[in-house]
Amino acid sequence: MFTCSACQATYASTTPRWRCECGHYLRHTTTGIFPKTDLNRRRPSLWRYFEAFGISNPDNIVSLGEGYTPLIPDQLFGQDVSLKMDQLSPTGSFKDRGSTVMLSKLKEWGLQRLVEDSSGNAGASVAAYASRAGIKADVYIPAFTSAGKAAQIALYGANLIKVPGTREDTAQAALAAAETEFYASHNWSPYFLNGLKSLAYELAEQLNWETPDWIVAPLGGGSLILGLYAGWRELVEAGYVAKLPRLAAVQAANCAPVYQAWLQGLDEVPAVQKQATAAEGIAIAQPVKGKDIMQALRATAGIVCTVTDEEIWDTLPQLSRRGVYVEPTAAAAPAAIRQLTANGTIVPGDKVVVELTGVGLKATDKIVEHYDCFS
Ligand SMILES: [Zn+2]
Repeated sequence: MFTCSACQATYASTTPRWRCECGHYLRHTTTGIFPKTDLNRRRPSLWRYFEAFGISNPDNIVSLGEGYTPLIPDQLFGQDVSLKMDQLSPTGSFKDRGSTVMLSKLKEWGLQRLVEDSSGNAGASVAAYASRAGIKADVYIPAFTSAGKAAQIALYGANLIKVPGTREDTAQAALAAAETEFYASHNWSPYFLNGLKSLAYELAEQLNWETPDWIVAPLGGGSLILGLYAGWRELVEAGYVAKLPRLAAVQAANCAPVYQAWLQGLDEVPAVQKQATAAEGIAIAQPVKGKDIMQALRATAGIVCTVTDEEIWDTLPQLSRRGVYVEPTAAAAPAAIRQLTANGTIVPGDKVVVELTGVGLKATDKIVEHYDCFS
């Protein structure tokens, strides 16, 4: 069942729907969680948590073997951390967690065509899974998107539409197209978010069902923070883990609407004027689910912080020299470890997970242009 986030109207989830009649986003009520004792017999993919995603028939699963990415020990700025290697997902970003579940539902609904808009990674991910599902996809991206992501979208077989102007102009163009086609937006879809819950389940399983003190993740549209919170809350309710982790959300200093709302103690997230940032994947002036993001951060005793482009570009080579090659957006969360340890938010001995979101190969053009040391 879907429930509106604003007017509390409810809808059956048996027919396609992406928002409430009143225009606000929907929440999905899932009806169960996976049996913990059965996991050892299941395959190492996120579909081992099938019961938690709201898909009725396993025959409708659209999969590329996503999930179950490695969790490796490392050190950042002197702090012991575990790196969650989601940049190793099938299309090179964590978005595959959401796309596999969203496209499985679209297939279950019998849809033939979709519209999506993205700063790049979600577009590439949705394009891949749509092709896999036999669904035609129109993917709108800002003209400034990294070449690697645009190439992925086109080669996966989607109809790629580059929109001049801002990320918000791209969303407007997609919304106009959604008047006639189904809007399979990763920012709106309750099923995309269901897929993100797998990150919580996986981390809990990989950590032997011990909750870490902190999970540090980048924040743009908020699917990571919302997925981690929803998934972990279910784990607590099922008695699989003892408590919630604290969530540290990292925004780009040049586009930090949630950070601004946090400073002002607001319950909603007003839009901000943003400037260009190396973290193109989280440059969202106003997240759709701002109200839920604020609630998730407060409920987990979490925090929001920002990192500058300079900190991102400084951190990226440090990761690379440890053999971990990520795109600039994905260096935002690791970069934040420096200030979070310096200001005593994270203390020595804390168990810290850092989510790595996208692989460096996607942004080769931007990386070469920035360091300018390869010619
Ligand atoms: Zn409503």
